[in-house]
Amino acid sequence: MSSSEIYDIIIIGGGVIGCSIARALCKYELKICLLEKEADIAMGTTKANSGVVHAGYAAERKFTKRNLCIRGNKLYSEAVKELNFPFKRMGSFVVAFKVEEIKLLEEIRKRGIEDGILDLELILEKQRIKRMEPNISDDIIGVLHAPSAGIVSPYEMTFALAQNAAMNSVKFFRSQEVIKIDHSDYIFTITTQRNEFKSLNVINCAGLYSAKISKMLGLDYFDITPRKGEYVLFDRNTIQLNKILFPTPTKISKGILVCPTFHGNAFAGPNAQNITDIEDTSTTTAGLKEVLEGAKKIVPNLPLRASIRNFAGLRAVPSTYDFIIDNTDIYGFINVAGILSPGLTSSYAIAEKVIDFLELLGVELKVKEDYNPYRPKPERFTDFSKKELDKKIKEDSSWGRIICRCETISEKEILNAIQGPIGATTIDGVKFRCRAGMGRCQSGFCRPRVMEILSREMKLPYQAITKKGDDTNILIAKTKDLLLKEIIKKEIQK
Ligand SMILES: Cc1cc2nc3c(=O)[nH]c(=O)nc-3n(C[C@H](O)[C@H](O)[C@H](O)COP(=O)(O)OP(=O)(O)OC[C@H]3O[C@@H](n4cnc5c(N)ncnc54)[C@H](O)[C@@H]3O)c2cc1C
Repeated sequence: MSSSEIYDIIIIGGGVIGCSIARALCKYELKICLLEKEADIAMGTTKANSGVVHAGYAAERKFTKRNLCIRGNKLYSEAVKELNFPFKRMGSFVVAFKVEEIKLLEEIRKRGIEDGILDLELILEKQRIKRMEPNISDDIIGVLHAPSAGIVSPYEMTFALAQNAAMNSVKFFRSQEVIKIDHSDYIFTITTQRNEFKSLNVINCAGLYSAKISKMLGLDYFDITPRKGEYVLFDRNTIQLNKILFPTPTKISKGILVCPTFHGNAFAGPNAQNITDIEDTSTTTAGLKEVLEGAKKIVPNLPLRASIRNFAGLRAVPSTYDFIIDNTDIYGFINVAGILSPGLTSSYAIAEKVIDFLELLGVELKVKEDYNPYRPKPERFTDFSKKELDKKIKEDSSWGRIICRCETISEKEILNAIQGPIGATTIDGVKFRCRAGMGRCQSGFCRPRVMEILSREMKLPYQAITKKGDDTNILIAKTKDLLLKEIIKKEIQK
């Protein structure tokens, strides 16, 4: 199927970067769509990272990512008011165990303040540090405190961005892997495995695959190497961390951190290993050992027995080691590639930069009269008082049926996740939108129920429900059907 519709802008890739750009552009009178290869948005690097909104002191001054991170951090305050995603400025500590590390932290502080991170503070009084973060090791001798650092739920923020963009007429097409791009007469023809799309401008936000997309147009000026980072996640409320805790950085890495999540878990990680397989998100015994050893140096009382999940994310490391955001030699084709850390923090600032590039290309940016920047906060069972809940349940009994016991998620929240703009179509889609399956039992209890709800709402057979799209079916057939087939086969053979 092909469409004669010509978009003003097509964004390739529905991670945090593609969705930030879609949301920043949705205020203008432009015809925009976003193509994502997976069954859902936010399922690439955006789903598995530390979720830290960095203060911005870490990268060297020669890198674009330093300024974009500092600016991006500031832009979160406005974004969270409009989009209502889980975000908290709780502050970070970079910890020092040796005098040389204190010297380095002081240099980082000075440079950071010069570049606009005004609240950076070197704290050397151990008692004060311990009061601020009681779990920190007794062996530390000082910390660099960055109060503006925060934690965000990266996928929930990305869904919020995408939903607001969709509310303002951006179209989202999922399960559309771009396999070919042609450019002639100033029009890009983008072929996916299912459709053909046309556009005057294309923005490549394909993360780990961004070099592959760029090469489809013969633009072969950078490479992307996957660098794996492994994590250990701990159950909610087993350790109460007040601060995001980093070791003193080395030249190549920010190191293994110990960090709370917005929803009250804690995690340790990531390590950093260059790999070759762009899809390899497996965890390894050696990697997890490295993570826990690193983390225990900072927080010796980590609740190791309360670990509920290990996972890994892949950084898209570009050959330039800096973000690649540029108007390329092909008029109308913008690369936003190699967005490694701190890409999540920088996402709003990256979107601003892309708008500057579009202006340079002569794209008319006229604000829509009916632009609505607000995305309502998803309603949560656990946010309501008893009185409010009684009222809700009277109005709609699905509020009263708890499907995920670990996280106390009601059927209504799952229905909202499925029926909302860019709704969930998979088990992971439900999980990442409303946390059903994120808790201690890791969906052991609620998965069959979530599948039933998905099957009912999508009018699909139970067996057609997948974890995360093609080839990830949980069930292949009903046991009774299989037995019946076996019996019939035997009868025929008799
Ligand atoms: C271990 C780790 C820790 C990190 N910690 C932090 C942190 O604490 N703070 C921070 O600021 N940053 C952090 N980052 C960086 C941050 O996660 C990334 O910068 C950000 O997620 C990149 O988003 P993206 O949209 O570029 O990529 P992705 O999320 O990977 O999105 C790219 C999308 O493009 C799609 N795609 C690919 N090919 C095609 C195709 N052919 N057709 C259609 N779609 C396609 C993919 O399916 C994917 O959904 C971390 C990264 C890692 C790996």
